[in-house]
Amino acid sequence: MKLETLSIRVGREIEPDAGDVAPAIHLSTTYERDADGEFSRGYSYTRADNPTRKALEQCIAALEGGVDATTYSSGSAASLAVFSLLRPGDHVVAPVESYHGTAKQLRDILAPMGIRHAFADMTSIDAVRAAVTPQTRLIWVETPSNPMLNISDIGAIAALAHERGAILCCDNTFATPVWQHPLELGSDLVMHSSTKFFGGHSDVMGGAVIARESGERAAQLRDYQGTAGSVPSAFDAWLIRRSLTTLSCRVRAQTESAARIAEFLSRHPNVDRVFYPGLESHRGHALARKQMKGGFGAMLSFCIRGGRAEAFAIAARMKYFTRATSLGGVESLVEHRASIEGPHSVTPESLLRLSIGLEHADDLIGDLDQALA
Ligand code: PLP
Repeated sequence: MKLETLSIRVGREIEPDAGDVAPAIHLSTTYERDADGEFSRGYSYTRADNPTRKALEQCIAALEGGVDATTYSSGSAASLAVFSLLRPGDHVVAPVESYHGTAKQLRDILAPMGIRHAFADMTSIDAVRAAVTPQTRLIWVETPSNPMLNISDIGAIAALAHERGAILCCDNTFATPVWQHPLELGSDLVMHSSTKFFGGHSDVMGGAVIARESGERAAQLRDYQGTAGSVPSAFDAWLIRRSLTTLSCRVRAQTESAARIAEFLSRHPNVDRVFYPGLESHRGHALARKQMKGGFGAMLSFCIRGGRAEAFAIAARMKYFTRATSLGGVESLVEHRASIEGPHSVTPESLLRLSIGLEHADDLIGDLDQALA
């Protein structure tokens, strides 16, 4: 089955009782035991398992081509679930420009627990190799990265990780499985902030971790999910499952507009640089063309000619881009990333990040044109 069919058909079986075509939401936190104390229907307590969450997990696993998916109450809860696989003394290699919340988890939660890390330039396999130590158990990639849209070579980094006894986890939030399948390229795990394109409407938080293989690692994640308890509510799981039915058409339309907007910005005299892997001028273009599936996503960033004040002024003049954090929703957003990322930020002050929504590209281009004038 193709991704579009999977997104409609997996985990959306007709309910046997009333024949609901749209799945019902299973709100119950607890489930009836059999007379002999067993749970022959498979459910005992919602933190451990819930039919609505299970449907979501089956669908996400299918979309990423994995054997299993565990879902969480946010993308941050999902990255922490991956880090729960590590033990004191272990070491992680992560991107210099990781999503700032992921980097903060490594610095503020993992390091005090004796799990060390190094931040490396993931666009260079030599830099990744130099950062790996005999204790490295996990390499983390984010490609395209947030917010500079850098591209790292998933296959080459997976091979390096395996050669050195580590695993690779890829944050696939920006690309989505519409454009990239890291598990096919050798990644062991994929992580998502489902708050973004999966949810797609800026009204639900969630996260997911997808495993390529069944076995101890997948079992450990499943056990962690129930024990840590950071699971999505049934309603949140239902909302994300519903939004997945339109994932491909949303992401394709948003990507088409993003590509047009990147072209427009790259020719604008008041724009210094544009970061979009679909542009031939992007330094990761050739690799993105090879490892992505014909589209480069709906996220882009650009540096204006000027500094922080001018960047704020341009964002303030935009009418069809809402000034807000997050991404992947139907409405276009603009954000000055350096000011949200905090003191460790490596993002230029002149950079604005755009999340392209489903407004008409002509209107978005017209809006950017007047804001940049
Ligand atoms: N990964 C990426 C690439 C993100 O952009 C974000 C959030 O912006 C996260 C992870 C964290 O996800 P959440 O905000 O759902 O916790």
